[in-house]
Amino acid sequence: MKVFFFIGVMSFFISSCSMQQNSLALKKEAGDRFFITEEVKLAPGEVKLLKLPRDVREVFCGNESFSIQEINNEMDVFLTEDYFTSFRERKCQILGANNFNLGLIKIYPEKKSFPKDQLTVAPKRVHLSKKNLRRAIKEKKMMSKIYAKKRSEVYIKEPFVVPLKSFVTSVYGTQRVFNGTKKGQHLGIDLRAAVGVPIPASNRGLVVFTGHLFYTGNTVVLYHGPGVFTSYSHLNKILVKEGDLVDKLQIVGEAGMTGRVTGPHLHWGVYINGSHVDGMSLVETTTIVSELEF
Ligand SMILES: [Zn+2]
Repeated sequence: MKVFFFIGVMSFFISSCSMQQNSLALKKEAGDRFFITEEVKLAPGEVKLLKLPRDVREVFCGNESFSIQEINNEMDVFLTEDYFTSFRERKCQILGANNFNLGLIKIYPEKKSFPKDQLTVAPKRVHLSKKNLRRAIKEKKMMSKIYAKKRSEVYIKEPFVVPLKSFVTSVYGTQRVFNGTKKGQHLGIDLRAAVGVPIPASNRGLVVFTGHLFYTGNTVVLYHGPGVFTSYSHLNKILVKEGDLVDKLQIVGEAGMTGRVTGPHLHWGVYINGSHVDGMSLVETTTIVSELEF
């Protein structure tokens, strides 16, 4: 008796929710469960795109926040794992309007090993002068502000592509070991490119920064939404200006060797949810999802 009462209450509850949560209910009627449960494995620097029902308003993971935006009648969220992850498993709540609990995303970080670049260089090339160090710190703060600014637009309509069909000279996450001591990690992708080679945008987006930076030289940063930025560095020439809306594969500049480099190449960076992540992973996840339903 109690069981029937409970089922009765639950079905009333679910059906009254269905009225408010219309598209979710429709989607779930075709499926099996009302409550969404997603289990995601993420390696350091990895990105995964999840398509959630339109009723979703937020993916809440404690102090971590994942940008979420509506694209083609669904809510897109790019889940990311920071390169410097503590490999902590976490549960993120999927919330609808009025913080209604729609489900759970369980994130399981996975170990991944990255290649090491052993470099022997003159000690003065490893250490920065005080002036350069001050400049580098100031520029890092300036770029953090650009990345942190809240933006609601979404420009992407198609999957991301690697900007150049060229040889990768340094993969994401490569550890840089100078004279036997680890001095950092490469949180972008280096693509072989001679000076003057035209550099296309990896997706449609808004130009949010152009300028010369100490480490990355002439740099263009694009915002694509939701929460996704790409950057193009060491350019010889910048061919766009802040505020321009560029199409996917539109030329944003010419390859070069400006900034701290040893030779000409394109450094392609991807920044999502406060982390520099692996561009190859962004291309892969948006391509897979696009084959299904982008
Ligand atoms: Zn690079």
